[in-house]
Amino acid sequence: MTNETWGTVRQELLKSIGHSNYVNWIEPLEFARIDNGVVTFNVPTVFIGDWVSRNFGDRIISQMGKSGEPVNRIEFQVQNVASRPAPAARTDERRAPAPRAAPRPEADLPGAQLDTRFTFDTFVVGKSNELAHAAARRVAEGEVVTFNPLFLYGGVGLGKTHLMQAIAWELQARHPELRVLYLSAEQFMYRFVQALRDKQMMDFKQMFRSVDVLMVDDVQFISGKDSTQEEFFHTFNALVDQRKQIIISADRAPGEIEGLESRIVSRLQSGLVVDLHPTSYELRLGILQKKVEQYRPQFRGVEIGAGVLEFLAHRITTNVRVLEGALMRLFAFGSLVGREVDLQLTQECLIDILRQSDKRVTVEEIQRKVSDHYNIRLSDMLGPKRVRTFARPRQVAMYLCKHLTQRSLPEIGRRFGGRDHTTIMHGIRRIESLKDSDNQIAEDLELLRRSLQDQ
Ligand code: ADP
Ligand code: MG
Repeated sequence: MTNETWGTVRQELLKSIGHSNYVNWIEPLEFARIDNGVVTFNVPTVFIGDWVSRNFGDRIISQMGKSGEPVNRIEFQVQNVASRPAPAARTDERRAPAPRAAPRPEADLPGAQLDTRFTFDTFVVGKSNELAHAAARRVAEGEVVTFNPLFLYGGVGLGKTHLMQAIAWELQARHPELRVLYLSAEQFMYRFVQALRDKQMMDFKQMFRSVDVLMVDDVQFISGKDSTQEEFFHTFNALVDQRKQIIISADRAPGEIEGLESRIVSRLQSGLVVDLHPTSYELRLGILQKKVEQYRPQFRGVEIGAGVLEFLAHRITTNVRVLEGALMRLFAFGSLVGREVDLQLTQECLIDILRQSDKRVTVEEIQRKVSDHYNIRLSDMLGPKRVRTFARPRQVAMYLCKHLTQRSLPEIGRRFGGRDHTTIMHGIRRIESLKDSDNQIAEDLELLRRSLQDQ
């Protein structure tokens, strides 16, 4: 093959894989030779070779066939090709605008696939997530790096991943030149282990340190894995030093992640930490209304009856993902049975989900969880001792019993070693006032509530 044929092949590849993929992965290749049906390219790093072979290998082979150079395999040899060539003049001008102006932050970096539904347009804002949303919006402008890192946390299904991916889409749309990498902590770990195994740490480091925006989702999974933590920490520091934006999510606050080194905790806390609170009824209803709009084109003709959305928002309270699943099922069901999805049909169709979210938390579960949380014996929490180490957890447990169960105060009193209902009331009031002034108590309550309700 001549360099000229390679030129034609490249032109075709540019058309089929898009400009940014082309610049990142095809341009760095330097045609070396064809031998016995094997085409060899020089590449600057092993990583690029692997990536190209995994993602574009078949396409290159088939394109070469079409251009009159049949080959059946590609090989790469690492050579000091003048690192990465400067982006070519935009030869793909006529491609713009792209079919669905879909930015593809995932396309040119080994991150996770982004979900096209997770954009700011589809994110419903309410009191419980307005801070997180505002921070995400700000970061997505991609102008000055103000909050670094942005740390988002909250319970399962409250929209962390949605918000992070919305940032990625928005950044790519506004600043296509930025290298945005979104991946889960597990993927980070996996890549790291793989790089260690394949002795490609240099590539690994180089790749992670070359991004402009790094997003790591569900970072709680990194805890306890010492070497991964270490590497994460270095990557993190290197990027912060270069004033590159970092966005992290977790299911709890940095300080609550067990097994995370304290220097990492304090780095994570050094930017802006915002949490997504449990959803309110209004927000859930708003989300459902939005989803109905989204699903409607797919399920033409399906009618959702009066009161159904309100019913769902009322009954399915912990996890937006479950809420969405329920609605989706109703649409699917409605299109099958061909009649309006009214309240009765809703209850039949969702019987399992409704039963699950009806699961009542018991006083005993609360007592057990609370005593575990504070590391005290159950007998001490229920017993008569008044020292604060026992009294405070006791009051926390009383408070949670009041809010998470249907028990009356006298009933709660009986289960707390036969205490009087006025004692219970006093305990509850104490916590009510403390939770506004004492962050630790507020956090404890939140964590306990979540772990009791999400199980
Ligand atoms: P998390 O990452 O916090 O576990 P996700 O971001 O995966 O939660 O959200 C779960 C599902 O709920 C997703 O389908 C997401 O689109 C939806 N969701 C959560 N919060 C909102 C919101 N405020 N507006 C619209 N959809 C939401
Ligand atoms: Mg998530």
